[in-house]
Amino acid sequence: MPNKTTFRRIPKIHLQDTLKDLLSGNKISLGKAITIVESKHPEEKKIASELIDQVLPHTGKSFKIGITGVPGVGKSTFIEAFGKFLTSNGKRVAVLSIDPSSNKTRGSILGDKTRMPELSNDPNAFIRPTAAGKSLGGVASNTREAIMLCEAAGFDIILIETVGVGQSETMVKDMVDYFLLLMLAGSGDELQGIKRGIMELADHVLINKADGKTLDLAKRAKEEFKSALHLFPSNSSGWVVPVGLCSAIEKTGIEEAWKTIEQFQKQMKANGWMESNRKDQAVRWFRERINHQLIDDFYSNPGILNEIKEKEEMISSQKISVRKALEELFS
Ligand code: GDP
Repeated sequence: MPNKTTFRRIPKIHLQDTLKDLLSGNKISLGKAITIVESKHPEEKKIASELIDQVLPHTGKSFKIGITGVPGVGKSTFIEAFGKFLTSNGKRVAVLSIDPSSNKTRGSILGDKTRMPELSNDPNAFIRPTAAGKSLGGVASNTREAIMLCEAAGFDIILIETVGVGQSETMVKDMVDYFLLLMLAGSGDELQGIKRGIMELADHVLINKADGKTLDLAKRAKEEFKSALHLFPSNSSGWVVPVGLCSAIEKTGIEEAWKTIEQFQKQMKANGWMESNRKDQAVRWFRERINHQLIDDFYSNPGILNEIKEKEEMISSQKISVRKALEELFS
């Protein structure tokens, strides 16, 4: 019998029980497990480490899709429609939302319930926002571990939603198999530099709100995006980035988008890219964490902040060189 480890802050829960329930696909246990890996409490960190160790052999089977786009493009509406399409086709779908710029708290789970009302009531779907108050590096690591837990809980498709504001896109790109960019027609986005950067990350550009009065505009935008994408360097995977149309509200273009994604999966499994990309991502994650750990360890030295302040004063009054100050700080 394995030793039972009692959680300090979450009473009456044991690691082995949580693990067993998690592996059987229990959503409540999955939610608890994610809370544990997000915890900064030293005791819970130890439990999290063991939990992640034990779920590792159960990961790798899910397909991970990053979804981004500016606020208002229709991400929630799209994920609701796309998620429902997937669950009605027998898939289990997890949605992890990341918004490092917001002051979200865990209370925003309610917010997500109103954003995606049908999906949040679907027994085959799991929705979870990222906890607030973390550095981008912390968010990235927590999200990667939350993904692993969702994989172990048997979710076939994991959607990682992020807001199209820059840095977080690169972070999400590095933890998913596929990156889907939702765009709007006629918003002038096509020409903006910031979008170029994000477009370069995309495996798929989908123009949403291709309905009603904006349908023609969307069709025109599709051609513009297509020719803009021609100018970008070709993908290391050999994938030619498709540009599609959809209406999340009218639920059109959803099935086509999924067929394209299936095509990608088939192609990238066959040419070995999916596996090698996942391996590269894991190694990059490790290297990133080394850097974070070094910084955390350094600043957690007792008295270090005072020592830095003293050195700063000495440097600004030219009593000591930067070189000397560094030598002393790291001696
Ligand atoms: P998010 O901020 O990217 O999550 O965008 P939302 O999903 O909240 O959508 C923003 C607004 O656009 C809402 O009023 C939606 O009803 C509307 N919307 C979303 N998708 C579509 C669509 O396909 N067509 C139209 N006409 N409106 C849409």
